[in-house]
Amino acid sequence: MERIYNFSAGPAVLPKEVLQQASDEMMNWQGCGMSVMEMSHRGKEFMGIAAQAEADLRELMGIPANYKVLFLQGGASSQFSMIPMNLLRGKKSADYVNTGEWSKKAIQEARKFGAVNVVATSADANFSYAPAQDKWTLDANAAYVHYTPNETIGGVEFNWVPDTGSVPLVADMSSNILSRVMDVSKFGLIYAGAQKNIGPAGLTIVIVRDDLLGETLPGTPTMMDYKIHADNDSMYNTPPTYGIYVAGLVFKWLKRNGGLAKMEELNVAKAGLLYDCLDASSFYHCPTAKADRSRMNVPFTLKDPALDEAFLKEAKARGLVQLKGHRSVGGMRASIYNAMPMEGVKALVDLMKDFERAHG
Ligand code: PMP
Repeated sequence: MERIYNFSAGPAVLPKEVLQQASDEMMNWQGCGMSVMEMSHRGKEFMGIAAQAEADLRELMGIPANYKVLFLQGGASSQFSMIPMNLLRGKKSADYVNTGEWSKKAIQEARKFGAVNVVATSADANFSYAPAQDKWTLDANAAYVHYTPNETIGGVEFNWVPDTGSVPLVADMSSNILSRVMDVSKFGLIYAGAQKNIGPAGLTIVIVRDDLLGETLPGTPTMMDYKIHADNDSMYNTPPTYGIYVAGLVFKWLKRNGGLAKMEELNVAKAGLLYDCLDASSFYHCPTAKADRSRMNVPFTLKDPALDEAFLKEAKARGLVQLKGHRSVGGMRASIYNAMPMEGVKALVDLMKDFERAHG
């Protein structure tokens, strides 16, 4: 069967070559007579797989030596509590930027552990833009500043990295990690669930500057302590081994295909094609501010919501799936992560133009 174009926000499309390799290696990984899924995480085969995945991620993102890379579980949502537990470090409060659904969840959770100051928000315009830094009311005594560089539901992305001086910057990069070149040294901590741009759900990646480790809130469970995971090379307990393996294949795929600079170039082109189509039409509407439009998640509505079902049906008939918008906002959303080929975006644009001609 031909593969379809999957526009899901996550779990999301993976590179075909990666799936093929995982399939080829399923029964017998590199002649060892077993699947990666069956390997002891402490055996030399899997230790090699994990070390290689980390080395490739470090190379791709240019992660400096004073940062730890952790392969954890629990999703980005667990980070909403692990971050305050680990990074409050004796301070009274943390600064958060509220740009939508995922920021709100991070804020809600952090409030269980300390005071949260919302230092900027785009609530005044239904979370459709990224507040400029000169509108932020940062507190020099905050433990850290948290923001969401790409709001997966709202489709708002920061095209710049905030400057928080000596206060560590914490970023939920779940939906735009590896999609563009990022200077890791500007961040205290970066985290991401794997299921969008990295690999299968179940793996969560944390990249953390090592001076931020080791001062957790009293009562922090062992499994929630970054230092425990860092000191044990993410093998304090059984890590999500198969997820790490597939992520490693994705990292190799990224390296073969020009790394993050090339991905960024392709992502700009793919998103540009889609936004140009939206802007050229009065039949479709994109709610986000032009300067802050996400390259990864493109929300849009049809002029008449009564046509939504017909649009989704026609999309499905053409092999384009998972275009329905998030249940909280409705309309459509096309997620076009690294592994979505340009052909997929072109097929969507063709559908949109044909549909407008038929129903506009
Ligand atoms: N943050 C962002 C930006 C997300 O897009 C998501 C998932 N869609 C989450 C956090 C939550 O991730 P998880 O399901 O891995 O906990």
